[in-house]
Amino acid sequence: MLVDQFQRQITYLRLSVTDRCDLRCSYCMPEAMKFLPKREVLSLEELHGLALGFIDRGIRKIRITGGEPLVRRDVIELIQALGRKLGDGLDELTLTTNGTQLAQHAVALAGAGVRRINVSLDTLDREKFAMLSRRDRLPHVLAGIAAAKAAGLAVKINAVALKGINEHELPDLIEWAHGEGHDVTLIEVMPLGEIEGDRVDHYLPLPAVQDALEERWTLSPTDYRTGGPARYFDVAETGGRLGLITPLTNNFCAGCNRIRVTTTGQLYPCLGGGERVDLRAAMRSGDPDAALATALDEAMLIKPERHHFAISERGADPAQPRHMSVTGG
Ligand code: SAM
Ligand code: SF4
Repeated sequence: MLVDQFQRQITYLRLSVTDRCDLRCSYCMPEAMKFLPKREVLSLEELHGLALGFIDRGIRKIRITGGEPLVRRDVIELIQALGRKLGDGLDELTLTTNGTQLAQHAVALAGAGVRRINVSLDTLDREKFAMLSRRDRLPHVLAGIAAAKAAGLAVKINAVALKGINEHELPDLIEWAHGEGHDVTLIEVMPLGEIEGDRVDHYLPLPAVQDALEERWTLSPTDYRTGGPARYFDVAETGGRLGLITPLTNNFCAGCNRIRVTTTGQLYPCLGGGERVDLRAAMRSGDPDAALATALDEAMLIKPERHHFAISERGADPAQPRHMSVTGG
């Protein structure tokens, strides 16, 4: 089993299948983002083999992510193959997507055994969406969310809270999502990778958002957990659930059960750390099973106790040069 030196049991893998994306969210990456050459990316068979190796070591939940996972042409095949492990080592298979291509894939995802997905949506305003993501795709995303609902998938809406951008729209976004039967999670922006602006300008601490929401609604803390870092509240007036992910204002590393693997097979035991183990080299070695086992043991030894994110100083370097789209969100 995978247990780190702080006695945290690692049961949750976030597996990035591509670093590419059809959007360019301005808090995530620059317009001129440089993507990896395709030859560096793991094949479908390699991703599958890797995931099976993780399941053998006690991983019970896999989230497929990216970049935008649905831009990878063979991703549904991978999800179908991993879906066959559900109930046979794997408890949950899920996906984080920007939703632009969800309408084409929702039925196949449900058929593969996916039950819940996260869709990132920061605004319901088409112009603002186009400005923020640098692409005019809000109608595609809304169609994707509707298709997912129709296919029987539980949808959680993830929104990054951004000062001066969607700050005043968050109640409307939450009300809309709850009205549609979707949970919502708000996320603090994290200092990962260079972008065109400075994240200081749009960083919005969630305790302030929570205070503002509590002037409008009754928020009751719940024990509900999805295996991720969000703390959840029931909102009495909307009848929905609201999650808060607060990597900056309320560090949650003590309960971390996660590791991440990039699309080139680099295992990062911490989203906010530089520690890394090369699983691709292990897989391509003479004795892949032994090399992979050793690599995973090493990952447990180097997983740091916590990240040290801060967004306070103008012009400061990001905590890590890697974008979230590279490590896997
Ligand atoms: N493309 C997919 C999507 O947007 O859902 C999956 C990958 S994306 C990197 C995963 C999540 O990370 C999204 O919810 C996105 O909003 C969030 N994200 C990206 N960059 C971030 C940053 N610097 N800080 C906080 N969240 C970020
Ligand atoms: Fe793409 Fe997701 Fe990053 Fe937006 S947040 S640019 S959709 S990877």
